Amino acid sequence: MYDIIIRNGTIVDGSGMPRFRADLGIANGKIAAIGRLHENARETIEADGHIVSPGIIDAHTHMDAQVFWDPIGTCSCWHGITSVVMGNCGFSLAPCAEKDKLLVMRNLERAEDIAPEAMEAGIKWSWETFPQYLDAVERTPKGINYAAYMGHSALRTYVMGERAFDSEANSEDLSAMKREVRAAVRAGAIGFTTSRTRNHQTPDGHPVASRLANWDEVRQLVGVMGEEGAGVFEIAGEDTGFDPERIKNYLDRLKALAVDTGVPVTYGMFSSRRAPDYWRPFFKLADESSQAGGKMFIQVHSRSLNLVMSFETVTPFDRMPVWREIRKLPLAEQEAALRNPETRRALVQATKENDARNHEAVGAEPRGVNFKYLYVMDQPNPPFRSVQEIADAAGKDPVDCFIELALAKGLKQFFLQPLANENQDHVLEMMRHPRSVVTFSDSGAHVSQIMDSSLQTHVLSHWVRDKHEFSLEEAIRMLTFVPASNWGLQNRGLLRTGWAADVIVFDPEKIAPMLPTLDHDLPAGARRLKQKATGLKTTIVNGQVLLKNNEHTGALPGQLLRGPLAARA
Ligand SMILES: [Zn+2]
Repeated sequence: MYDIIIRNGTIVDGSGMPRFRADLGIANGKIAAIGRLHENARETIEADGHIVSPGIIDAHTHMDAQVFWDPIGTCSCWHGITSVVMGNCGFSLAPCAEKDKLLVMRNLERAEDIAPEAMEAGIKWSWETFPQYLDAVERTPKGINYAAYMGHSALRTYVMGERAFDSEANSEDLSAMKREVRAAVRAGAIGFTTSRTRNHQTPDGHPVASRLANWDEVRQLVGVMGEEGAGVFEIAGEDTGFDPERIKNYLDRLKALAVDTGVPVTYGMFSSRRAPDYWRPFFKLADESSQAGGKMFIQVHSRSLNLVMSFETVTPFDRMPVWREIRKLPLAEQEAALRNPETRRALVQATKENDARNHEAVGAEPRGVNFKYLYVMDQPNPPFRSVQEIADAAGKDPVDCFIELALAKGLKQFFLQPLANENQDHVLEMMRHPRSVVTFSDSGAHVSQIMDSSLQTHVLSHWVRDKHEFSLEEAIRMLTFVPASNWGLQNRGLLRTGWAADVIVFDPEKIAPMLPTLDHDLPAGARRLKQKATGLKTTIVNGQVLLKNNEHTGALPGQLLRGPLAARA
């Protein structure tokens, strides 16, 4: 007797091996059998015409806060994701005592666009140390599985207080930090993360705490994981600019870190139209480090990294004084103002005055506009038309055209502004690199700026079905077995008897992201972009049905996934 049998589906098991028709039986949270099953089950899922595959694993998220108010992990769960890794880029909520939580939130607010009101209202702070945070996540009822890194910014702030934002660590600070890293990894932290990028700033324009660390501090903290023989190190990379000397210096340090400590090192990498080949040495580095005895793998995206903008959130012109006046009005009044020809002329005129202050941007804030690279998101997947293209065809000014397109949808029209990965040949090349992992949704962060929880359904719809660039077997392997292996998630990422029953059932002809929407459903009414997907029939986590036709069943079968040392304790 099984708990669940998925009948007549086509198994794509995550290994990359060819698909086959079979039933899949689940008992006690585990995959119990794959084959032609004659027994009965409490629940039968008919999967004829559907693919049965492992649940997808997203290793680059920022769900650390969201897990406490949205336990099923939207929007990721709507895209077949059953496990996430959180705490990336140096941002975690522990270690931190409740009295200091505002300091940690300061690290998160601008760098990751998580509203402090939402964090304040949505989190019951019940921890101080990282092991206590893990316990809090473990106690919280969850829909999907969560693994957590400890973040350098939180750690630094915990140990150094306000000094974390302006000083180097002294030797006492350093030994206190090393003690916390050791305790975290022993308790099951999946690793340790840091950020050295200027994209990560506090609301008052200062670097987040981890950016004050010198390289020796980073080396010593990662070294603790090496001594313990567990944990992955993730880094949001240093600002080398395009100076070859600085790039080389940084790459040499990364390689030495991986080789000397034996700790797996991972980082995200994108191509950029401003420096088309910048990414290449970072892939070579992963190969070279591996030859030298280190381990390195690269997190890549599956499409352009797009800001998703609308008048409901931000436009690229909001910092201009004339625009600012209009933009602070309620949406209906903005609409009326935009329909007034005189106001409209003034708004268009303002964009012609090139004032650099209007274009200062960090992280995922809008950039100065090149209309060739501003797209109308009128469908979920590319190709998209640029505003320039539409304006040229109509013989209009592109700003005017931008306003008109927005008005035509009641100001709800979304526009895409790529920050990176504009060249899709580069995207494919990076996805195909043997040391790449397709991940980096940033889910839980940048909640009103980007919407990449759909990057995995983008792979299955765009690259597999529409473009035939990958077989379904290759794509599923990229999204399941590869991340599970790199992050060491035990018994997940493949369909094998005895392994955790994280399973998705989907229609390969229909699976696709839907258009995003804007909602104010975060704690304290904070806003976020939401995106669902079509084609997903059933999402099973640890042997229980979490989603049926992508609707939550009420089950909360998710687990905290602890790193390997916790199991030994
Ligand atoms: Zn991140």
